[in-house]
Order: sequence, then structure tokens, then C-alpha cells
Amino acid sequence: MRHIALIFALIGGFILMAPGAHAEPSASSRLPQPSIAFLKAPPANIDAVPGLLDRPDWQPLAEETPNFGYVTDNYWYRMPLESSPGNQVLEISYPQLDYVRFYLLADGEIVQTVVTGDHLPFSERPLYHPSFLIPYTVEPNVEYEILLSVKTSGAHQVPIRLWQQNALFDALTTEDRLHSLYYGILITTIFFNLFIFLALREATYLYYVLSTFSYLFLMATLRGVTFQVFWPDNPWLQNQVMLMVVPFAVLFALLFARSFLRLWEAAPRTDLLLQFLSGVSLLAILGTFVLEFNTSIKSSVALALSAFLVLIIIGPLQWIRRNPQAGFYTIAWGLLIIGTMLTASNKYGLLPTNWLTTYGMQVGSALEAILLTIALAKRLYNEREDRLHAREAELRAMAARRSAELRMMDQALHNPLTGLPNRTCFEMMINDLIARVPDRRYAIAVIHLNNLQSITKTLGHRNTDRLIELAATRYHSVVREIPGILAIEETDQRSVYLASLEPATFGFVVDADQISAAPRAIVIGLEELREPIDYLGMQLPLDPQIGTAIFPDHAQDTNSLIRRAHIAQDSDEARDRGLAYYQPTRDSYSADRLTLVSELRQALQNEELALHLQPKLSLASHTVVGLEALIRWPRRKSPIPADEIVAIAEQTGLIRPLTRWVLEQSLELRARLLDRGWPLSVSVNISPNNLREPDFPDFVQRLMNNHHRHRGAITLEVTETSMMQDPANSLKALNSLHSAGIPVSIDDFGSGYSSLSYIKQLPASEIKIDRSLITDITTQPGDRVIVQTTIDMCHSLGYTVVAEGVEDEETADLLKTMGCDMIQGYWLTPPLPIDEMLVWLSSHTMSAISRKLG
Ligand code: C2E
Ligand code: CA
Ligand code: CA
Repeated sequence: MRHIALIFALIGGFILMAPGAHAEPSASSRLPQPSIAFLKAPPANIDAVPGLLDRPDWQPLAEETPNFGYVTDNYWYRMPLESSPGNQVLEISYPQLDYVRFYLLADGEIVQTVVTGDHLPFSERPLYHPSFLIPYTVEPNVEYEILLSVKTSGAHQVPIRLWQQNALFDALTTEDRLHSLYYGILITTIFFNLFIFLALREATYLYYVLSTFSYLFLMATLRGVTFQVFWPDNPWLQNQVMLMVVPFAVLFALLFARSFLRLWEAAPRTDLLLQFLSGVSLLAILGTFVLEFNTSIKSSVALALSAFLVLIIIGPLQWIRRNPQAGFYTIAWGLLIIGTMLTASNKYGLLPTNWLTTYGMQVGSALEAILLTIALAKRLYNEREDRLHAREAELRAMAARRSAELRMMDQALHNPLTGLPNRTCFEMMINDLIARVPDRRYAIAVIHLNNLQSITKTLGHRNTDRLIELAATRYHSVVREIPGILAIEETDQRSVYLASLEPATFGFVVDADQISAAPRAIVIGLEELREPIDYLGMQLPLDPQIGTAIFPDHAQDTNSLIRRAHIAQDSDEARDRGLAYYQPTRDSYSADRLTLVSELRQALQNEELALHLQPKLSLASHTVVGLEALIRWPRRKSPIPADEIVAIAEQTGLIRPLTRWVLEQSLELRARLLDRGWPLSVSVNISPNNLREPDFPDFVQRLMNNHHRHRGAITLEVTETSMMQDPANSLKALNSLHSAGIPVSIDDFGSGYSSLSYIKQLPASEIKIDRSLITDITTQPGDRVIVQTTIDMCHSLGYTVVAEGVEDEETADLLKTMGCDMIQGYWLTPPLPIDEMLVWLSSHTMSAISRKLG
């Protein structure tokens, strides 16, 4: 771009500096151009100067001013002054000349000598100006002649003008103003783009700044301004800079064009060429230090010329290839070319001199600078826009991906039918819970719908699905009310407490400490769960069965917890009561249990088991009327609760020998009691499995026959729920026992859901109200009503009523007022070994108990 100017300047004779480059207010203010004659001869001594004039080989100059190209010879010029007197100035507007000697001859005599040139310090100039300005005075009636001796390296051109002093100063002022404007425009674009570069750190801006700056610097150097301003006393530096500004300007122009057009993307081969030329420019810069002046100038010009041609062709070529930046680039170049052409045409007389032709190149380059700045700004804007659009698109894509992921995750974690969290989600929640708060106890519960299969067979899958949905809603509303219930999934919108583990299985998690503090809530919840579901006008019992495993008692990891909850759910207990806790001993799948079974067998054989006794007190007589025998395994390292011993025995067939041992043992204990004067009845717990043994009644009968004195004093306790598993056989067995004179007691009454009409058929004389109903009667009016109703009902059916689990005096008092016949529980004493029981019996004399009961 600016290289055009450079090329024209270098090749076409430094148009800018050439005469006529000045703004000329009016041609008349300039003195008429003198006719010049020249002579090629070495510089001469001042004394020899007048002699030179007489030489015959002076030749008239064909052109207006001298221009001999790259010659290093010394030339002499002479010109007669035909002007009117006054203060005048000779101007040579090519500040590159090495040496200029000026002689003013008046009537053949040298009256003034001036030596100047850019090989001399600036301070020696007669007028402090980048161009050579030599003032002289013309007196009237004297014949004047000017003689110049010029020697220079580089282009030998001597654009001579003669001025009236005032007219020159006017012209210079106007010109300076225009140049200031021009420089101002370039400096502004330089700073503007520099700031943008500093803000954005984009190389293109830096190259643009460097390129424009080097162009500006080149211009200023060619005009001699830099010499005058920066290093007026250092002619060597001025000449060195003169050599370097050209390759520098070429280098930065190349770098800028590459970067601006993104040639490495758009045209890699052209880019390679530009890289090569950049390399040559660097070499040219280095060359200025070693090459001879003219060689250096010539190679710079050759470089500039080829670079210029390449750069000027790239624009349209890239434009055709739809390089988005090429339009601006080409137009900017075009403006500079047009401007330069205008100026050049004027220089060569093709166009008249006017403001536009004079300043065409400056205008062109200024417009070019402005246009490129706009182009850069536009590119910046476009890139911003593009990046913004790209970012927006990316964000949209990300959001879409995210929501798809969420949807997939949602699907992966939920049951499609019920919309509840699925097994995976349930497991994750438990994992998270026991990892986060491992120091609490949690109950992991599963609800299995036992009746679902038969419903499906009756009503079909579609109805089953609908039913499962209804069950999910119902169960969710039930479990959410359980104290200590923990959310499986919690979002801003909702908390979900129930999970769908399998089509017929749900799960939930409860804080075990909170729920065990509220046993009644379990009972109520269970009742609600058990209610049949109203569907299509039918009351459909889903028969839900709950199994529960406790963290950390039953297992420490999620998988085992859920598995064990399932095992508990599948147990007889769950079938009977609707709810069962996991019991390791009943887990036929656990390794511990295997060893436990063989240990129990051993213990039974080796008589390691024992019976403890717990008294049964009559509330009416304040006397102990009986004792319940409860199994113990005293010498075992880790104690096993009685019901677990029984459970293992039941599952492995050991219950048969166990119960028989217990019965025989009770007779022995009772014998000891009798010996000590305590004629108390002894109650023995019987498993429903025993009732299924065909020879069980015979065994009991034979036992009683062999031990006459215990006849009628050994009561068999059977839980109401256990008999429900096989009602017909149980009834048969109990009837035959009863007819053999053996009293039967219904244990754990009220804990299950057996029908009273069935109970009524049983040959029992005693009902034991379950501990769970008794525990809270002092505080729960509802429980009190149930117990009172039970007592009244049982009395009306002719049963004696025993309250189990009486732990305090208040409960005992209350039960007495409610008409309960007997109590049993820790308030009297926990079960004790026979020896301790004997001590207890004698120390707790009847009167003491009487006092206690008031
Ligand atoms: P069960 O027949 O209901 O026995 C009463 C249970 O309540 C006993 O637990 C007893 O220790 C406990 N208990 C008594 N008073 C209180 C009280 O005030 N508060 C509390 N919290 N508990 C009290 P144990 O001895 O652990 O026996 C548990 C169950 O194991 C028995 O319940 C019974 O079903 C079964 N069992 C025990 N021994 C035998 C046996 O020899 N044969 C059979 N088949 N089952 C037995
Ligand atoms: Ca019992
Ligand atoms: Ca009981």
C-alpha cells in the first residue's frame, strides 16, 4: 500500500519531494524557473570556481531540473538570475543529497558560499528546514548567477526552485499545515489500532500499527523530517536510517497483508511467498550494515518492487476467491494507487496541477489507512458476532444435551409405571445416606404385594398396572406419615418417600431410632397399608407384607440391607403379622446361620440350653399364680434372643426335639417348685410346627401320664397368628390336647389379624394380650380402649385375660381397674433362672406385692 508511494518515490523520482509537490498558492508567487546548464566535473577549490565557468563543455539541461539517476559523480549547475531584486531563496526539495555547494556570483564575483547536504550536521544549514533552503539577496543593477556543485550517492536529482522569500514561507506554511493533517491522520490510526491491539492482543493490529508507523517513518525520513527532528547532528545515522526504512516498511506491509487476509488459511502458497519475501526483507535490513550505499538502495528497491507487485495482485485474486477481507484490502490499495497515479500523472504533465493531483498520494494513503482501520473494526465486530453466535449455539446445544441427559437420567432412575424412584435410585439413596450419616440406625423396609399374581390372573395385566399405580399413591401417602421417614428423592417441587423396586414391591427408609420411639405409628401404618384397595367397585386385598432390615445391626452395605429386608418380608412372621424384622437366625441364606444350626443341635444334645421363669400375677388375689418358661442359651459367647433360637429350630426341624426338651425340663422345674412349696402352674410356649407333628398330642399326653402330679398344671401357649397358617390342623391338635386335660393359652393376642370367630373355636382358657397393646395404655387413650374392649370381650367369651409386658406400677394399676385378671412383665421381674426365681418368690411375699399394688 504505502509501498506504492515508496516505489514511486524511489523509482519515479521522489514525487513527494519533487517540485510541485508543494501546495502552490499561485504560480506567480514563485520566481520563473531559471534555465540550467550542467557540467560533470569534480568539486573545485573556491579559487578555481570562477575558472570553471569558462569551460566550454557546459551543456544546457533538457529537463526543467536535473535528474541523473544513480550516479556518484559530481555535477555542476549554473543558472542566471533574471529576477527583480529582493530577498530570495533557492529550494532543493530532495533532502537526500550528500553534498551541495552553493555559490552566488555577482558580476562574476563570488559573493556568497554555502555548503550543505545530508552528510553534514543539520545545524550547518542556512535555514532550519528538511529541504535545502538557501537564502540570498539580489541587489538592483547587478548581474547574478548561481552555481551549484552536487555530489551524492543514491539518486542524483536536484529539484531546483527559486522563490521570493515571503512567497516561499507562505507556501511552506500551507504545506506544513497539510502535512500535519496527513501525519495526524496516520498517527491517529496508529494509536487507535495500537490501543485495540493492547486490548485484544490480536497480531493483525500490531502488524497494522507497525506497518503504518514504518510507512509514516519512511515518509518523514524521505522528507528529511526525522533527520531534522531526531538526529540533526548525526548524518551517518540519517543515511543508515534512510537505508533501513524501506525494507522495514516492506517487511511490516508483508506481515500485515498475511495477517489481514489470513493467507495461511486462505492461500497457503501465496502465504509461503510472502513469508519468503519477509525473510528477504530481514536480510535487506541486515544488508544495510554491510552493503555499499547504492547496492543497498538498489536491492531495497528491487525487493520493494517485487513485494509491491505481489501485494497488489493478492487483493483482487483473494477477492475472487471470496476471502472476506479481500474487498477492503483491494479497495484500500486501489485508493492509494489512484491517488498515486493522480500525483504521478501530474508530475509527468498529464494532468493539471491542482490540490487533488498534488496531494493525491497523501489523500489516497490517508483514505487507505482509514479504510483499513474500518475494515479491522468491522472484522473485529464480525468475529465478535461469530464468536457470540457460536457460543450461543454451543450453549443451546449444551442445554439440549443436558436436558436429554436429565431426561435419560430421570428415566434411568424412575419406574415408568408409578413414576416413583426405582431400585437403582433407592440403592443410591441408601448408599448416600449411610456414607453421609453413618452413626445413626436406619430401617430399610420393603413392601411386597402377595396377592398381585392372583389379581393379574383374574383381571389381567392392564388392571394390575392400574392397581399398582393406585397402591403406589396410597402407600406413599401412608409411609410419608411414618415418624422418621426419609425422603428417597427430594427436589424443589416434591419429596418422594416410596420407591418402586419391582412391579409388586415397594421400598422405603426410616430413621430406626425415631420409629422405635413410636411403635404405635407402625401398627397404625400397617393397618392402613393392609386395607384393600377400591378398584372398579371391588375391594381388592393386595395383601402387602413388609420386611425390614436395620442398618448397621443387620448389615452394613446397601445390597445386603435390601436383600435382608426381602428375606424378612418373605418370613412366616411377615405373613402372620404383616411386618417382620430381619433375623439372622432365620436367614437360611446366611453363612452364620449354618454354624448356628449345628451349634444349636449340639447345645440341645449337651443340655446347654436352659429355661428361665417369669411370674404371672393375679391382680385380684395379688398372688403369683403361674410361671412362664422361656428358653435361654446361657453359655453362648454372643447371646441369642429366645425368639431367634426358636426361629432356627423351626426352620431346621430342631423345634421338635427342642419343644420336647422344654416340656420335660418344665416338669423338672415344676417338681423343684413343688418341693419348695410353690404349687404354681408352668406355661410352655409351643410352636405351630409342633401342632403339625402328628404325634405331638400323644407325646404330651404320655408325658402327663408319666408325671401325675403335674397334670393340668402345664399350660401350652400358642400364638394366635401362628395357628392361622394351618387353622384346621392346629384346631385339631389343640382339641386333642385339650381333651387330654391340657390347658391352652392364646399368646400375643392383638398383634395379628386373626378372626375372632376362629379364636372362639379354640379350646383355650386364657388369652394373653400382646405387649405392643399394653405398653402405651397409660398414655394412649386409643390403646386403652382397645385393651378394655379386648378384656371385656374375652371375659364375655369366658377367657381369663393376662396382660403381657407390664413394666411399671401405673400400667399395673390401670389394668387392675380395667378388670384384667393377670399381669406379667418386668415390673414384677424379668425371666429368672430357677434358683433365682425361688429366691424371688420367697422374698416377694404376697404381702409385699399386695403393698406394692396398694
Ligand atoms: P412370648 O411368649 O410373648 O414371651 C414373652 C417375652 O416378653 C419374653 O421374651 C419375655 O422376656 C419378654 N418380656 C416379659 N416381660 C416383659 C416386659 O415387661 N417388657 C418387655 N419388653 N419384655 C418382656 P423372650 O424370653 O425373649 O422370648 C421371646 C419369644 O420367644 C417368646 O415370646 C416366645 O414366643 C418365644 N419363646 C421363648 N421361649 C420359647 C420356647 O421354649 N418355645 C417356643 N416355641 N417359643 C419360645
Ligand atoms: Ca408366651
Ligand atoms: Ca407373649
